[in-house]
Amino acid sequence: MREILADFFKSVPTEDIAKVAYLTLGQIASEYEGEVLGMAEKSVLKAVAMASGMELGKLGKMLDETGDIGLTAEKALQKKPQTLVPLGTLTLREVFEKLHKVTSLEGSGSQDAKVTIIAQLLQKASPSGAKYITRMVMSTLRMGVGDMTVLDALAIAYTGEKKNKGILEAAYNICPDVGVIAETLVVEGLKGVEKIDVHVGRPIKMMLAQRVETLEDVAKKMPGKVTVEGKYDGERIQAHKDKKGKITLFSRRLENITNQFPDLVGYLEKNVDAKEFVVEGEVIAIDAAGKCLPFQTLMQRKRKHDVADFVMKVPVQLKLFDLLYYNGKTQLHEAYYTRTGLLEKIVSCGKHLTIADKIVTDDVEEIHAFFVKMLKSGFEGIIIKSMAEDSEYQAGTRGWNWIKWKKEYVKEMSDTFDLVIVGAFYGRGRRSGVYGALLCATYNEKTDTFETLCKLGTGLTDELLEELPTRLAKYKISHKAARLQVKREMEADVWFEPAIVVEVLAAEITKSPYHTTGSGLALRFPRFVKFRDDKKAEQATTSLEVMEMMKRK
Ligand code: ATP
Repeated sequence: MREILADFFKSVPTEDIAKVAYLTLGQIASEYEGEVLGMAEKSVLKAVAMASGMELGKLGKMLDETGDIGLTAEKALQKKPQTLVPLGTLTLREVFEKLHKVTSLEGSGSQDAKVTIIAQLLQKASPSGAKYITRMVMSTLRMGVGDMTVLDALAIAYTGEKKNKGILEAAYNICPDVGVIAETLVVEGLKGVEKIDVHVGRPIKMMLAQRVETLEDVAKKMPGKVTVEGKYDGERIQAHKDKKGKITLFSRRLENITNQFPDLVGYLEKNVDAKEFVVEGEVIAIDAAGKCLPFQTLMQRKRKHDVADFVMKVPVQLKLFDLLYYNGKTQLHEAYYTRTGLLEKIVSCGKHLTIADKIVTDDVEEIHAFFVKMLKSGFEGIIIKSMAEDSEYQAGTRGWNWIKWKKEYVKEMSDTFDLVIVGAFYGRGRRSGVYGALLCATYNEKTDTFETLCKLGTGLTDELLEELPTRLAKYKISHKAARLQVKREMEADVWFEPAIVVEVLAAEITKSPYHTTGSGLALRFPRFVKFRDDKKAEQATTSLEVMEMMKRK
């Protein structure tokens, strides 16, 4: 895939490279910009009818036969009567601009306007072009390529060497936008890419925490004093305020979630004293007395409608723990205590906006006592943060500057894993007619592939079993995903494009010839905990993490 893409990228004119990078991923903008197509099948079919001159009823039948809008459009256009001559040649720019137009239309009459635009595109398209355009507008184009493969291919195409991908990846962590990276690389070369900096309003990939086996191990990784903060089981938020005072909130998967939290926007406007900033924290639901409520309560705030009602019903608190940008200057390379020192100065704490609870210590007993205190307050555990000179913010990295310690680590020999659903097996007996088990995978960052780790059947309630086929329908594919590594013994009945992440609790990691993570590791007694809608497939537990946990056993 890399080689094919690299060859192709070489032939793309400079002014088109960003657009091509997005389209390769089945997108028309970087994900954080929220320009998602996803038109309804019925509307797209109407557009195909208009462009091909074919009756809707006939097209509907054709769709039933092929089961795919792309193939239907291709066939329909092949049959187009000669009287309907193509209206000129379709250019990449036109496709791109019209698709943007489609996402921008809202309100009454917008559906018809969208259909007309798509029909115009299809009138100019070749049959195979129509196949891809229709899939794209329905957001079902599945090339199986991820951002990392695109970066690899760009490195090969424009620097001649795959090893330069490291430079592109470092830039991607600060600017997770393949379009910007592609264009900068082509126009300014690697030097330009190295200079890519924080841009307020564009999310930064979030820094993640490592695990240790015992609390005593913390001192080995972080000698001397450390800061210990509460680990809150809410939703991570990265808040940006630009020069004009506009505040944007991004989720863990870097989606714009500003509309879900108008209350937080207000608190940040009033209580953070800075012209421009990027801060991070965890938002939790609280009761009238300010006490932390469970994650499930917070989830009620994940909605498009009745937002104002739920602002009242489910009040929240944002616990800030980092500062990444301040008044025109990146803070990423400053030490942790410098960043948080500044954060504490500019934030006026109150019930809804505050700084994470913390202590500074070098004593393991004190760390443990603070951990117990955090559990009593209803939190998930602690995060221990390095106070070394070089404790910079490692964007997009699970490094040793942050170590997490959760209640699961103490209770039993168990840990949670965030795994991607890549396949499903039909159920038997009581579960016949629904999926009986799910095939779950880790993400291998090195190879940009997904590797299976377990078959998950426990913990799935009847309600959940009913819901699963609908939740997964959008990602169903007729063959195994291009980036999935799977053993013959684990051939699933149904395959999915890696997209949905679930949290899985397991007793231990064992060796297994049936799975591909770490060349043969598997989970024992995996149990479904919850969906991790805040994570994308590439943010799942990595194969390397599992291998390291196995080593520590
Ligand atoms: P987990 O499932 O254990 O939460 P994760 O993969 O989501 O793991 P990690 O980096 O391993 O993320 O753990 C850190 C997460 O904990 C952050 O993503 C954030 O949402 C949450 N968190 C809660 N409190 C803090 C804190 N004080 N500092 C940093 N992260 C925190």
